[in-house]
Amino acid sequence: MEHNSETCIFCKIVRGEIPADIIYQDDLVMAFRDIQPAAPEHVLIIPRKHIASFEEFSGEDVEVAARIMLAAPKVAGKLGITETGYRFVFNDGPDALQSVGHIHGHLIGGTRMGWPPF
Ligand code: IMP
Repeated sequence: MEHNSETCIFCKIVRGEIPADIIYQDDLVMAFRDIQPAAPEHVLIIPRKHIASFEEFSGEDVEVAARIMLAAPKVAGKLGITETGYRFVFNDGPDALQSVGHIHGHLIGGTRMGWPPF
């Protein structure tokens, strides 16, 4: 997994080095469509700052963490799924199958989902 902001794919999106279908952004977070959508609507919400996992959040990242959560309903609104609902999940570590080492929330919706996810 990628832990270096120079080569991190999501940091490259933040820096504008590779394209992304951006749904929402502000000074602390970005939200863009997943390239391999797992549902009719699938957007990733990430901190602009390279934070690899929940364990890397520190006290100075409280506003970043809050902004990620506050971005979710904004993204859902833009996708038109506020009323039908959506799931906002974070994969952290190998058992959760995290594949990109820059923490990101998956906002998925546009269909009826099942639970639990295994
Ligand atoms: P994870 O497996 O929970 O770490 O999620 C990583 C997600 O990033 C996967 O759903 C990938 O499809 C997605 N992804 C990887 N590279 C890109 C990209 O360049 N643009 C958008 N999504 C990406």
